[in-house]
Formats: sequence, structure tokens, C-alpha cells
Amino acid sequence: MPAHPHGPGRGAVRERWIISGQIYCEPVSLLFSQTVSMRVETATEPGSAVSAAVTSADSVGGRRRLQRLNEDFAAVALPASGQGGALVLLDGVTPNRDGTGCIHGVPWYVARLGGTLLELSASRRDVTLADCLAESIARTAGSHVGTCDLSHTHTPQSTVVLARWDEETVEHLVLSDSVLLIENGGREVRAVLDDRLDRMPEPVRAMRAAVRAKELGSVERELAGAEYGRMVEALRNAEGVEGAFFTAAADSGVAQRAVTGVTPREAVQAIAALTDGASRLVEVFHQGDWAHTFTLLREEGPQGLIARIRATESADPRCTTYPRGKCHDDATAILVVW
Ligand SMILES: [Zn+2]
Repeated sequence: MPAHPHGPGRGAVRERWIISGQIYCEPVSLLFSQTVSMRVETATEPGSAVSAAVTSADSVGGRRRLQRLNEDFAAVALPASGQGGALVLLDGVTPNRDGTGCIHGVPWYVARLGGTLLELSASRRDVTLADCLAESIARTAGSHVGTCDLSHTHTPQSTVVLARWDEETVEHLVLSDSVLLIENGGREVRAVLDDRLDRMPEPVRAMRAAVRAKELGSVERELAGAEYGRMVEALRNAEGVEGAFFTAAADSGVAQRAVTGVTPREAVQAIAALTDGASRLVEVFHQGDWAHTFTLLREEGPQGLIARIRATESADPRCTTYPRGKCHDDATAILVVW
């Protein structure tokens, strides 16, 4: 593995639970008309829960940052079926505190779903990404239908970003609020978004804003958050309901709701996948556009992008300058540059 010009070699586990990886391939595939080198980098860092009930030496404003399990998932296959590659990025939905009907939990769910998605998208080029998702949901459901209530409203669920490429095309699939960025040779960046969450009915969006305007950790925010949660639940995977949005859960039919597309490979210079904890510069902090985020990814890598996000969050520990649901969310990014 050659040294990389963008920074020193990085260990498998970083301070503050950042896990990052870099892959450099040369050549990508003997099927390419010429030798191609490429850069692949990943990084992930768990967010935090905040409890008003505890204080300790590491407290911030009387509230301690609590580490919790990372519910994101990222994986890259190189090559996929002997050519090109594939990436998978998931963001598990934070489970309802009243229960999920599942004995396994969200990290188990995203690992099962993500592992199956990587296997199918990398090994079955004859299967569309939407069908890979449908089959992966079905297999994952089958692995715990005997022990868990998959009809439960809060059964483990996840956002999904998939991309698969070869010398001809780059295929993509996006479901819910994780993002895929596609950069062309002119460094122009297109964001592939499933924006259904942003198009929820106005009363729901107004309630979300009202929750985030209340003091973090306050009883008022807890109560308003519970009400907002009930409004959102009425829309999640609610087939036929106006303003509904969809996540991967236990129903494979949701795969047909995903945003999908194909781009000629020659029109793509790089791609990046971000969970919403890693897309905050644009969507929460309003610091630059997607091209700006992509420039940071190129210059500082996924780990550098997440570090910038954490720095901005830490400078606003009460979530007042930048109202948001969680002070620090799980943040995961994958960068692929040809
Ligand atoms: Zn289960």
C-alpha cells in the first residue's frame, strides 16, 4: 500500500472512537482499458446521547456526554465481480425507548442488512440495486422473524445508500436521508437525495423546529419531542399516506420507493456517501454547498470532515446556534476518487 499524499498512515482506531480506513488500488481491474489507480477512504464516529439527569467531571453545562453504540454501517467492495466496485452506507434509526419488538437491536440490524447488501451488490451484477435491497431486507427479516415481532412499528430500520460501478456506468440508490454526492470531471457536484423527510406536512416540520428551539435536556423538549416522534411515526413507511417517507425495515417492498439512477462512468470523477451526521455542514450549519463539502473530503479525507463537524458541534453544546435533534449524531463518510 503506497503512502498517501493527503496525510500520514492512520491506525484502525482513532481517538474519540473514530474508525477510518484507506484503500488504494492499482490497477482496479484488468478489464479497464488502461491501468487505473483510485483512492477509497472511510471514517465513522459515534454520536452521543445527552442526559439531564447526570452530572460528572466530564459534564458540559451540567449534562454529560454519553457514548452510545454507533448505528451507522459502511463497507466497500473492490473489485465487485472482478471489475469496478460497490459501496454500502447505512444509518440505523435510533430505536424508540418504549421498545422495538426486536431482541437484537439496531447495530445488529444494520450489520446484517449491510453485510447482505455488500454481498449481493458486489456478487450479483445481474441484479439491480433495488432488487439487491429488496432481497437483503427479506433475508435480514428472515434471520429474526422467529424471535422478534417484525410487525412492530419500531422494528429496527435504516437509511440506505448504495453505489456500484464498472468501466461503463455508476449505479446508485438512496433511501431516506443519507446522501450520495457525485462529482464530475469539472468538479461539479450533484447531490442525490431522497428528500421526503424535508417534504413532510408543514405541521410536522413546524413541530420539529419547535422541538429543536427548546432547551436541550429540558422537560419541555422531552415532551415536545415525544409528540413530534408520534407525528413522524405516523408517516414512516406509511404506504398511501400523504407526506409519508420510507426506510429499510422488514418490508422488502420499500426498495421500490428508493431514488435510483445510472450515470455514465466517464461523467464521474468521484463519489461520496454521507450519513446525516456527516452532511451537517450543508444541511444544519449552512457552511457552504455540497461542492464545498466535497472539497473538504478530497483535501482532508472523511476523518477531517467529521472532525470539522465535531468542532462546530462542540462550540455549540446547547444546540442553540444550530438547532438540531442530537448534539452529536453518528457520522460516517465514504470517499471514492478515480
Ligand atoms: Zn430481532
